Amino acid sequence: MTYQVLARKYRPGTLAEVVGQPQTVKALVNAFDRQQLHHAYLFSGTRGVGKTTLARIIAKCLNCETGVTSTPCGICANCVAIADGSFVDLIEVDGASRNKVEETRDLLEDISYLATMGTYKVYIIDEVHALSDSSFQTLLKSLEEPPEHVKFVLATTNPDKVPVTVRSRCIQFHLRTMSIETIDEHLRTVLDKESISYDDASVRTLARLGQGSMRDALSLTDQAIALCGTELNEASVVEMLGCAPQNDVAVLLENLVSRDRDSLFGTVSELVARGVDFSEVLAGLESGVHALAMAKATSTSPGDTLVSLLDRCDTAWLQQAYQVLIMGGRDMQYAPEPRVGFEMTMLRLLDFVPIEIQDQTPAPIVDNPVPEKATPDAQPSSQPVSSHDEQTSRTELEAEANSTNERRKAWQERPKRMQAKRAEERRIEKERSEKAKEAAMRVFTADDELPYVQVLKERFNAEFDADWLDDKHAKPQ
Ligand SMILES: [Zn+2]
Repeated sequence: MTYQVLARKYRPGTLAEVVGQPQTVKALVNAFDRQQLHHAYLFSGTRGVGKTTLARIIAKCLNCETGVTSTPCGICANCVAIADGSFVDLIEVDGASRNKVEETRDLLEDISYLATMGTYKVYIIDEVHALSDSSFQTLLKSLEEPPEHVKFVLATTNPDKVPVTVRSRCIQFHLRTMSIETIDEHLRTVLDKESISYDDASVRTLARLGQGSMRDALSLTDQAIALCGTELNEASVVEMLGCAPQNDVAVLLENLVSRDRDSLFGTVSELVARGVDFSEVLAGLESGVHALAMAKATSTSPGDTLVSLLDRCDTAWLQQAYQVLIMGGRDMQYAPEPRVGFEMTMLRLLDFVPIEIQDQTPAPIVDNPVPEKATPDAQPSSQPVSSHDEQTSRTELEAEANSTNERRKAWQERPKRMQAKRAEERRIEKERSEKAKEAAMRVFTADDELPYVQVLKERFNAEFDADWLDDKHAKPQ
């Protein structure tokens, strides 16, 4: 028997089997149970969340030989034909590849003929947003008042591009992006049915990398099975995907929190050697920082691997770290190579520290990655010190406190300094413009009242013999 990919093999055949879309399923079940059927449905949502699957299930519900039902039998000739794609009354087209108006006209040409095998003719138009404007116009007429025996099911990943005139003639269901938990659970079911053993971390990683798409997650699982055989484990999955496992994220965060540069860049080199995808590592770090911040805000657990960091980082740092990581991810595309982008982001996390934390740890932390260093308050009491040492440490502490105060003061006075600077700039500008005005006044013209000598003196720096000057009308300067 030929191998069938998981996404196709485990494609839901009934509404009850559809996962992750409870509202939509409930609405459809109610509609079929009450026989209140609309003539056009529009499913929107990202790839791999079940749009086409639902469209085919609707075709089954309409054409099952047991009658219109929310629970098609799955064994009658019509159900089987729909499942294997040979049902002639199910017309499925891809809007992206058949978007011309002639093609839409062809499609709708025999719409008035009755269904040959079943009760209803079902038109499924996938990626409907890709149709041309005139195609939409053609479709609109049929969509407005289709014959009794015709149902339309439209699917799109981009509902905003579907004209509002089309949307208003359909019942629209927006399918949700799948949560990691939903995908995780479904993958476990599938793997159990396939009798493949797995560990929690490997399934979690596959679910996360599906990025909300069940089909993507199942395709990755296919790939993992091809590599690992009947036993999935995190190491192989991670190697296959080149992504950061939870453990690496914990190690990196530990290095960052203790500000241990050597270990941090050692870890980075290790990741480089393993050929990981640094965008994935950044995403992992973002999730880690988020887990820690949420744990601080709601006193939940950030997970076993991160719980030891909880008391050693503060909320200001977490907020800033999240921002830096997001920016780092965004700028990754501009970096000459991913490693450079990643390392610069790590350096930024080490170098930019919120002021409150700087105040607590003014000493260079590079040489002392011991966690207790981060909270200097605990230090004097934890170690017994001689009176001489005590004296020295007190002086040091005072000096530290002074320098901290100075920095804080300087920071607080910053707006005042800026204001003074701007005032000074304005004054200089005003003086300059007044001088220019004055100079313009002195430019010699025929009507000028100033005596010629005065003008010549000013314009050419000319010197004159005082006796020679005998202008009674010279104005005093
Ligand atoms: Zn049936």
